[in-house]
Amino acid sequence: KATLFEKGGTKVNITFTDVAGLDEAKVEVMEIVDFLKNPKKYTALGGKIPKGALLIGPPGTGKTLLAKAMAGEAQVPFFSLSGSDFVEMFVGVGASRVRDLFKQAREKAPCIIFIDEIDAIGRARGKNMMMSNDERENTLNQLLVEMDGFGGDTGIIILAATNRPDVLDSALLRPGRFDRQITIDKPDVKGREAIFKVHLLPIKVSETLDVLKLAEQTPGFAGADIANVCNEAALIAARKDKQSVEMIDFQDAIDRVIGGLEKKNKIIA
Ligand code: ATP
Repeated sequence: KATLFEKGGTKVNITFTDVAGLDEAKVEVMEIVDFLKNPKKYTALGGKIPKGALLIGPPGTGKTLLAKAMAGEAQVPFFSLSGSDFVEMFVGVGASRVRDLFKQAREKAPCIIFIDEIDAIGRARGKNMMMSNDERENTLNQLLVEMDGFGGDTGIIILAATNRPDVLDSALLRPGRFDRQITIDKPDVKGREAIFKVHLLPIKVSETLDVLKLAEQTPGFAGADIANVCNEAALIAARKDKQSVEMIDFQDAIDRVIGGLEKKNKIIA
């Protein structure tokens, strides 16, 4: 990969309406969006704006989507990188990438920095198998230095995502760093129904489609799995030269996605 993040950050068009369910998480992040929009309103009374929030939850539940929606709502640039990008980097490269990222973010503030899979860099010392320990520690230390190096009124909000909060170095969770934690669980039946509705929008569905039934048939599915089902169903129906996507196509798609998930679980086990 040539670059870990786009120079100058990306402009995102995603908003909260693209994020279905996650009502509690949305309320929490709306506050952060408001900090980005009106920092002075908060600092005027002497309060310190938080620097970062950790989004905790299983894969595919919309952590990245929510982070992007925050940038879209606040209309600020979005810088992102993934902890796994740092795996197998040459000595010194990880730390200098982090330094470079924060330098750009300071120039573009207010903005959001999003670090996906932060556990790949932020594991408690001595517990990482993926990266040479020294190099990972250098990268983590640089991240801590950068986070400590700016005040809350700089207009940079750092979001990080993980599904393994238990392995994180406690230094990351200290006040003034990722002191807010937002949990994002797999959706319940109502959440799944809402996610289906978002992903059905671009699809030509038959009038008899029962969305609640689809939600009931997909326990344990994350948002990413549901997005996958909707797309598969459309492809299955197209292959049969149909004019619209029917319940049966969705059922076939659900079976296919369940098959895929089972395979993935087998490989992990
Ligand atoms: P990972 O930990 O694997 O990076 P993640 O939690 O960041 O996963 P996303 O990348 O945000 O998950 O989700 C992948 C895709 O799944 C999204 O781009 C979106 O299409 C769909 N999706 C997930 N959750 C939702 C949701 N709550 N509402 C609408 N779409 C969703």
